[in-house]
Amino acid sequence: MVADAGLATRLERLPGVGTARGEKLAKLGLTTVRDALMHFPREYRDFSGAHALADLREGEHASIVGDVTDVGSRTLHSGRTMLTVILDCGGGRARAVWFSMPFMAKRFAKGMRVVVAGQPRLSSGTWEFAHPDVRWLAGGEEAHASDWLAVYPLAEGVQQSHVRLAVQAALDHAAGACPEALPEEMLAAKDLLAIEQAFREIHCPSSREMIGRARRRFVYQELLMLQLALRMHRSRQQRAKAAPAIPVDLRLDARIRARFPFEFTPAQKRVCAELAADMARTEPMNRLLQGDVGSGKTAVAVYAMLAAVGTRVAADSNERFQAAIMAPTGLLARQHHQTLSRLLAGSGVEVELLVGGQTAKRREAALERIAAGTAGIVVGTQALVAGAARFRHLALVVIDEQHRFGVLQRAVLQQGQADPHTLVMTATPIPRTIAHAVYGDLDVSTLDEPPPGRQPVATYRVGPDDLDRWWEFVRKKLAGGRRGYVVVPAVEESKRDLATIASAYEALANGPLEAFRLGLVHGRLQPTEKAAVMEEFRGGRLDVLVATSVIEVGIDVPEATIMTILDAESFGLAQLHQLRGRVARGATQGICGAVMSSQGEPHPRVDAFVATTDGFTLAETDLRLRGPGDLVGTRQSGMPPLYLADLLRDGSVVAEARRDALELFEKDPALADPSLERLRKLILDRWGATLGLGEVA
Ligand code: ADP
Ligand code: MG
Repeated sequence: MVADAGLATRLERLPGVGTARGEKLAKLGLTTVRDALMHFPREYRDFSGAHALADLREGEHASIVGDVTDVGSRTLHSGRTMLTVILDCGGGRARAVWFSMPFMAKRFAKGMRVVVAGQPRLSSGTWEFAHPDVRWLAGGEEAHASDWLAVYPLAEGVQQSHVRLAVQAALDHAAGACPEALPEEMLAAKDLLAIEQAFREIHCPSSREMIGRARRRFVYQELLMLQLALRMHRSRQQRAKAAPAIPVDLRLDARIRARFPFEFTPAQKRVCAELAADMARTEPMNRLLQGDVGSGKTAVAVYAMLAAVGTRVAADSNERFQAAIMAPTGLLARQHHQTLSRLLAGSGVEVELLVGGQTAKRREAALERIAAGTAGIVVGTQALVAGAARFRHLALVVIDEQHRFGVLQRAVLQQGQADPHTLVMTATPIPRTIAHAVYGDLDVSTLDEPPPGRQPVATYRVGPDDLDRWWEFVRKKLAGGRRGYVVVPAVEESKRDLATIASAYEALANGPLEAFRLGLVHGRLQPTEKAAVMEEFRGGRLDVLVATSVIEVGIDVPEATIMTILDAESFGLAQLHQLRGRVARGATQGICGAVMSSQGEPHPRVDAFVATTDGFTLAETDLRLRGPGDLVGTRQSGMPPLYLADLLRDGSVVAEARRDALELFEKDPALADPSLERLRKLILDRWGATLGLGEVA
């Protein structure tokens, strides 16, 4: 067998690919045959035309065959054109529509037979496809049941056709040379496709059913590998150092709670008890705390940190344990520092801050106090705390606002004589099966109720025609004493974006919000400048903060209760929800307007956002809308992505892989059986570095 040599062949050497295309493909990270084979489709266009009108479901991709019976164009209020094509589909009529694409009209004529593919919507009793894909059938040509076209994730300057061509060439090249990683008996017992057939069907499916079977094979393998890797990791961890035991007795518990200006919610009490039980043991805690934005996660984390700093390192010692909390942004770290300093005023606990923008001298002094153990609680950005700080008696690490389902961030900060307890907090709720798949051995706590008196944020979709009225409404609310945000999009915060932000600010300051005190924060400001503007806003010396999504995570100004999100289409769903969370933090009901460039056109993300404020529902919708792919966000964090596991749909496979991994691991913890050799190698390649599995090899 050519085995790996075949898969390692460089794409540009394949017939028809060539150097120029090869360079383009490299932008997508595709350089070898293996890369191309593992570049799974994002979705499939169903051109089979196999659906009858009666089978259609709202929003679910489908394709129908029909004869064009009418083609009409009209101009809408907004000045845009709308093209409507009526199809006779045998069993009834359907409609295809295009906005602002008048040239499409020429491509249709009565009597043509077409396949229309897209997401249908029932509109006044008729199925309507907006901006569908169309295939024109030649005279007498019928649609085929196997017309499934793969659609790939792309990068700038790379087209579908480039990827399709490379994948085809890779499939041909690898034919007969794909090494199988799963033992023969396993394939048979689980009715899984062999690797080569699975590659072929995932890229060039012969039917919808085969797409499902191919996906299943990859999802299963991927999850099995992850679960085995997590097992190996855990068995190493159990051999690792012990964590300090932090027993929380009733007195300490009462002392900690008395520091808070509010009563904990029942959910917070429950989670605090879960944390206390974990921390009382010497096995390091590995816990994920999830809770919707504003559910009060910080308070719970502070409780755990106070338990640590309230505990002596030994009965006969005056030294106390240390705790650290790491935030993804400097703004959030500074905010935590303020909250904690206020909470601990007069307690004798020193709260240390480690963020960008501090002078070298100040940083040195902080690091010294941390090393000496006099700094009880350390607050900072992940980069600085994990990168620079050396602790004397670190007992607990809290990682705040871990948005993406990053796998296993907790390897960081294991230093000193003991491993710390670790608490990871996220506002992106994860269904339990997914949490299991991604975090494997992490225990999960959930804050499932908001603090008392919270009302869901009233959320509106603001189209171009509503904009004047919206600003009038905002002005009225501001004049009535509210404070708020205007969020402007900035993806890269590049120079161009900065110009956009600046001009958006000018436009607001000289336009709709002229009468108010405005401030501006964005990612390119110096940390100290950012902090200064935040202070002005927090202190009520500004009415409106114009901001990029730097305020997305964690920013807590309960008095800010009205938000306008400009260009809402450009934000992700999770991001929108996080942003809205900024105005859901007090007793006054928050208000949020999502400003859109279109008046009525359906927009799945923004429409879902407007329809509910429930974080769990939105997280699920988000997973569904994004489809399979890099769901766990590992690509962003520089770790290998989970290619295909559509964890929401594949909950049962998660459970199955978990069971099988456990069984395999118990029988053969070193995966030494010859039939597992390739699987073991793949696991080490994939997860070895991330999870420190070197030794197991
Ligand atoms: P998140 O879960 O988004 O991190 P925070 O911990 O920042 O939420 O809490 C949101 C707001 O709710 C903060 O202003 C906090 O002080 C307040 N809060 C937290 N717990 C309670 C509670 N039990 N009662 C009243 N207010 C609370
Ligand atoms: Mg928070």
